[in-house]
Amino acid sequence: MLTLSDLERAAVEKIQSRLPVGITPYFMSLLSKDDPNDALRRTVVPTAAEFTQTPGEADDPLGEDGQSPVPGLVHRYPDRVLLLVLDFCSTYCRYCTRSRVVGHGAIYPSRSRLERAIDYIRSATSVRDVLISGGDPLTLNDERLNWLLSRLREIPHVEIIRIGTKIPAVLPQRITPNLVRVLRRYHPLWMSLHFTHPAECTPEAYRACERLANAGIPLGSQTVLLKGINDSVETMKALCHHLLRMRVRPYYIYQCDPITGSSHFRTSVEKGLEIIRGLRGFTTGYAVPTYVIDAPGGGGKIPLMPNYIEGREGDELLLRNYCDQVYRYPDVGRG
Ligand SMILES: *Cc1c(COP(=O)(O)O)cnc(C)c1O
Repeated sequence: MLTLSDLERAAVEKIQSRLPVGITPYFMSLLSKDDPNDALRRTVVPTAAEFTQTPGEADDPLGEDGQSPVPGLVHRYPDRVLLLVLDFCSTYCRYCTRSRVVGHGAIYPSRSRLERAIDYIRSATSVRDVLISGGDPLTLNDERLNWLLSRLREIPHVEIIRIGTKIPAVLPQRITPNLVRVLRRYHPLWMSLHFTHPAECTPEAYRACERLANAGIPLGSQTVLLKGINDSVETMKALCHHLLRMRVRPYYIYQCDPITGSSHFRTSVEKGLEIIRGLRGFTTGYAVPTYVIDAPGGGGKIPLMPNYIEGREGDELLLRNYCDQVYRYPDVGRG
């Protein structure tokens, strides 16, 4: 049992219609029992700051509802769709970008709704990549997952299927031999995992990722940049080093979306750039994710990079390396 601080208690009592509180017993065991500032604890235990709305924040900052041709399907990019199978998670992240729908029973994995989504994908022949998310798709049972994956695989233009999940971090016991047997039938199947902090990289999480990787599933991780939780070069580097050892490629660092009640989680963009600057060159290139802002209004993910271009001198490009030294590159053939 956790001893709640006054601010945490006030939030739990007020939560009601908002994003529910849910924490697996396993994840609960990783939280500090008495420190409300513990990194993992802050990601899942609500606090009163969630009820503060700051200018620029919105319930649907990414405009997903406006890019949804059928319920629970977001079609933003020409060649890929985001399929929200259900709105349930085993553990609810307090910074959830989809807190407007998640945990409310609004997106139900009924066969009829999923059939409509599948019909849409079948008719949209430009869609070559289906990203299954939610909620957490791995909270479906093996049979339903098998049904969904098999239906998607019947569509000839669907080249790859991706599953977005936080299960390996919050409920690694769900990665059973049987689940893995189901998943590996539907290759090429990729997975985007959601790891936030090195403290999530437990022996159980390692084991779960090992099973997935051994099934030939390429694994990536998406991490939200969170103030006071992972907003330092040391913490991100430790996380990315764990991920490589778990055979998970750090894929994206997301600038925290301006979701209602998120100001206590959001850092400046400069902080994200500082983290990329502190990784590139200082560690394995595979350990360096792409830092992105998911543009408010539905513009999609926009990559941000520290500026390594110093300027030009004639045909020479002046470049700054990771150690802050300037090098020249003969950039011939322009114009
Ligand atoms: C993030 C996202 C995708 C996938 O983007 P990738 O950069 O290909 O990983 C697709 N659709 C929506 C709506 C998204 O938010």
